[in-house]
Amino acid sequence: MSLGSRFLEQVDQSFDHAASFTRHDPTLLANIKACKNLLFTSFPIKRDDGRIEVVHAWRAQHSHHKLPCKGGIRYAEAVDAEEVQALAALMTYKCALVDVPFGGAKGGIRLNPKKYSAGELERITRRYAFELVRKNFIGPGLDVPAPDVGTGPREMAWIADTYSQLRAGELDSLGCVTGKPVSAGGIRGRTEATGRGVFFGVREVCSVAEDMKALGLSTGLQGKRVVIQGLGNVGYHAAKFFQEAGAILVGLSESEGAIANPAGLDIERVMEHRMAGKRILDFPGATNLARREDALEVDCDILIPAALERQITEENAPRLRTRIVVEAANGPTTPEADAILRQRGILVVPDAFINAGGVTVSYFEWVKNLGHVRFGRMEKRFDEGAYARLLKAVEGVTGRRFTADEVERLTQGASEEDLVNSGLEETMIGAYHPIREAWKRQPDLDMRTAAMIVAIDKVALSYEQLGIFP
Ligand code: NAD
Repeated sequence: MSLGSRFLEQVDQSFDHAASFTRHDPTLLANIKACKNLLFTSFPIKRDDGRIEVVHAWRAQHSHHKLPCKGGIRYAEAVDAEEVQALAALMTYKCALVDVPFGGAKGGIRLNPKKYSAGELERITRRYAFELVRKNFIGPGLDVPAPDVGTGPREMAWIADTYSQLRAGELDSLGCVTGKPVSAGGIRGRTEATGRGVFFGVREVCSVAEDMKALGLSTGLQGKRVVIQGLGNVGYHAAKFFQEAGAILVGLSESEGAIANPAGLDIERVMEHRMAGKRILDFPGATNLARREDALEVDCDILIPAALERQITEENAPRLRTRIVVEAANGPTTPEADAILRQRGILVVPDAFINAGGVTVSYFEWVKNLGHVRFGRMEKRFDEGAYARLLKAVEGVTGRRFTADEVERLTQGASEEDLVNSGLEETMIGAYHPIREAWKRQPDLDMRTAAMIVAIDKVALSYEQLGIFP
């Protein structure tokens, strides 16, 4: 059985378990669970040395209850039909949890991007985009990809450009993909959105005194010991925001190895060290761990897997020394490990909720593309004028004069980035409380099941509103 098949089984099992707590019609539940469309395509590309290679690629659309569907594109050697279906299903539940009005999708190309030149990757990406256009698997109202493992703004710009060339004159063409560079129709704050969302979500989880007490922890992030696996887009930004909030990074791992220091690791210095020496190991003051997986077993309060799926297994789950596992990656915990963690009283904050910051800000980017105007452009100056008049009035009434610094700070209107970050914060906080309520409603329920119940209820409601199911 491939890793992808196991991952799909894992997502489906988690759906079935949560569905058993709901009263929805079994046919409706079966319909929600099933993947709606699956595209497989293969095409030849020419390598720089003249060799021809056949590339295998997929796109799964798990749900159409809201359109467009949305989900990243992954470049990795393990990609297969089952993996993209599992990830697409997670996208459906994720979008529902954060009230992003999209169905779930995911795409992938089976390759290790490190083995290809930029020119080769561009040819592959453009050809993949071309296949998606040809098969109606992309478009601002159909299916809107985004970055995932092994892809970033560069690949999204190639996709947007290919789509726009093929659909010349389509007014909303830039909304065919999100995660683009800002200069190519992207939005400020998208790059760091998933890591920032992880931070907002965990901060909210850790703010509830009753739940922290049950775990033997104090409230807040200040002084919490954090371990992060994977320092890519999600892991690096999460590390940065946790550190800024006063958490202590006691363990970090990357593909080449892991390091630990109970006194804390400075994320920027670790990244500089890795850039210079191409490895995280031998960071001054830190201990090199024997295997990269050992980072998961470092003594901490919060463990954040932010690399790939199926990292916490029945083999290592009994040895974890954390109180909270935060699933920044998609599907990092196997069902067997999940059961062990539950039994050990370790709180698992599920992927479908905690890593939804990326899709939330992608939604903002899509709205910006359809609106053809940058957020904040209309009101920033107007607000600044209004705040300045207000300060003048306060000065008149109180006789106190504000300093130039105070005036600058108090009269600042919101930029696009301010609005994006504020919308993200609102979304993550707003999404957590219904999940917590569902979690607390039934004794012995875990947070993953609670989140899935909330997601199922929302998707079920959409299908019911379509009038297809009773
Ligand atoms: P990325 O490619 O930027 O980063 C992944 C990092 O993990 C890389 O630096 C890689 O070297 C490292 N890594 C791989 N195997 C490892 C291992 N065994 N141990 C330690 N490190 C390892 O990818 P990303 O975008 O940060 O995505 C990471 C996870 O988050 C994935 O599961 C992805 O599906 C999920 N996710 C990403 C986003 C997003 O916006 N990028 C949104 C939601 C969920």
